[in-house]
Amino acid sequence: MTTDLLFLRDAYERSVRAVVTHVDGVRVTLDRTVFYPTGGGQPHDTGTLTWPGGAARVTEVRKEGADVWHTLDGDVPAPGAEVAGEIDWDRRHRLMRTHTALHVLCGVIWHEWGVPVTGGNMEPLTARMDFELDPTPEGFGARVEQLVAAEIAADRPIEVSFVPRSEAVLDEALIRTKVSLVPESVAEIRVVDIVGLDRQADGGTHVRSTAEVGGVRVVKTESKGKGNKRVRIEVVD
Ligand SMILES: [Zn+2]
Repeated sequence: MTTDLLFLRDAYERSVRAVVTHVDGVRVTLDRTVFYPTGGGQPHDTGTLTWPGGAARVTEVRKEGADVWHTLDGDVPAPGAEVAGEIDWDRRHRLMRTHTALHVLCGVIWHEWGVPVTGGNMEPLTARMDFELDPTPEGFGARVEQLVAAEIAADRPIEVSFVPRSEAVLDEALIRTKVSLVPESVAEIRVVDIVGLDRQADGGTHVRSTAEVGGVRVVKTESKGKGNKRVRIEVVD
């Protein structure tokens, strides 16, 4: 059974009516979900599931194969039950702002210094990202902050599309962000495009425009060994 991942098409859907497809202890899979499972540096959503005669908190969400498993704290519904799911929107929207902030960061660092990302991670409103940069340019943190602020002020739209793998592997922006690492079995690549700034193969949830990010502060830049610089950011209102 495959879980339909509604957040891939609309990150603003907060609730879902779904059918329980499997139950394993305190975990359930659903035929469709709005709960984002941990992946791509973005932590999972939390929220609630309710159904006639029961309710539970969703405390963890993981994707295993084609299924999304929701770990429950509370009652557990039976297979076949119809449930209503609702994500904690404050947490999710903060993660959307933070994830988009990281893509803006990737875009400005690529355009200014021409170096790629080597890794990253985020929590709601805080994140870190590593770049293949050596040595650290003079005034790096302040310059990054200034460039990011300009992109936020430009209010660039963010578009999500699905392109055939054969097309995606020829797209220069996607090659740069290592589209080749997407498993061969994936026929369609999901592309998140901050129009005019940054295009990436990405499975995460994003806001609709850069202005919605709010503000970004560079909290710290540090060296993580030769040719690897870590940038820590904070997303603020
Ligand atoms: Zn991403």
